[in-house]
Amino acid sequence: MNAELISVGTELLMGNIVNTNVAFLARECTAAGISVLHQVTVGDNMERLCDAIKTALERADIVILTGGLGPTKDDMTKEAAAKVAGRNIVRDAHSVERMLAYLKGSIYKEVPENNYRQADIIEGAQVLDNDNGIAPGIYVEDALGKKMFLLPGPPNELKPMFQAKVLPILMSFTDGILYSKMVKLGGISESVAETKILDLITAQTNPTIAPYAKNGQVWIRVTAKCSEEEEGRKILEPTICMLKERFGEAVFTLEEEVSLEEVLIGLLKERNMTVTTAESCTGGLLMGTLVNVSGASDVIHEAVVTYANEAKEKYLHVSHETLKRYGAVSEQTAYEMATGAAKLAGADAAVGITGIAGPGGGTKEKPVGTVYVGCYVNGVVTVEHYVFRGDRRKIREYSVNYAMDQLRRAILASH
Ligand code: ATP
Ligand code: MG
Repeated sequence: MNAELISVGTELLMGNIVNTNVAFLARECTAAGISVLHQVTVGDNMERLCDAIKTALERADIVILTGGLGPTKDDMTKEAAAKVAGRNIVRDAHSVERMLAYLKGSIYKEVPENNYRQADIIEGAQVLDNDNGIAPGIYVEDALGKKMFLLPGPPNELKPMFQAKVLPILMSFTDGILYSKMVKLGGISESVAETKILDLITAQTNPTIAPYAKNGQVWIRVTAKCSEEEEGRKILEPTICMLKERFGEAVFTLEEEVSLEEVLIGLLKERNMTVTTAESCTGGLLMGTLVNVSGASDVIHEAVVTYANEAKEKYLHVSHETLKRYGAVSEQTAYEMATGAAKLAGADAAVGITGIAGPGGGTKEKPVGTVYVGCYVNGVVTVEHYVFRGDRRKIREYSVNYAMDQLRRAILASH
């Protein structure tokens, strides 16, 4: 089976928002064994939207639309789809009830009439309840049996709806279920990761293998089409083994819900170690990420942000000589930051990060994105030199993810 994705919204056409929905849907469909043949973006315009839907229905088995299900005049996806399918729009009592329950206790004394529009559906369609908003999704077939899904635009509504409501329907077309694992990797770039498994990706059928980059982490979703979970596990096993073999200790978990920071905090707890950080270019982002994990206080007591050279000297005792001779962004400084932080906090492990997040401050020798991470683990210090690409936010996120992974590996190597 194949699919066409239609993103609806003038905001998208004008570049005001980035179309993350289409990337999500394309990945999900591919992993489900459905080939995406076309992706189309169209503005909030009735005529052009109808044209796009007609064209898509002619050339694809499944058409998935996102956006334009809201209460306002420019939300017209339902009307367009109904028109093309030759169906009426009817008010759905069940969706009205859900909407009123959702809005109960909200700012509204009385629900505005246009909100009721969101409870309208296409006659004869299947309603997909929205657990994170008002507008329900809609699944409908046209006279020729072509399948159309209308889904809400906000990603926090779309994603859970797709996974919980749409995927099972898609699987029912092919008589099976999906069982997947997420192989998460740290300390490796997406292109290196992909190159290592290019043969597997090229040869994939069942399971499918879909890697994607997560700002300094690489996640590989491996999905089996199967009739039940146990069979899925069996189908995945050889591929998971192969991935583990090829990526070795870069793999930090196989579970979708488990984060790198959780793995790291868990490892520190297991080893009965405390950790501290001394951050320059990340300005506390690493510590902020680590304390996201509940129970982090068992292993973290204190940390410092040392942005200026003076602060690095004052709190961490990075030597004046080092700063002058090698610069604040250098292997030597990262080394002294890590050891200084460990001493300051009396911790068993410490991370020192120093780098140039940009956009200014880069030089030929040390371009924007140059980052040094020092890891201290029970007296042993390792320093890594990275060069990340991207804007300031991205470079800081990459730094945090690589630093966490570097520490994880250093701890694993320390016993
Ligand atoms: P609403 O009820 O909020 O109006 P809707 O289903 O009508 O939802 P839109 O009005 O098209 O959807 O979009 C609402 C918001 O959802 C957008 O402002 C944007 O933030 C987000 N959004 C919509 N489409 C996309 C997309 N393709 N990628 C990422 N975000 C999107
Ligand atoms: Mg809208």
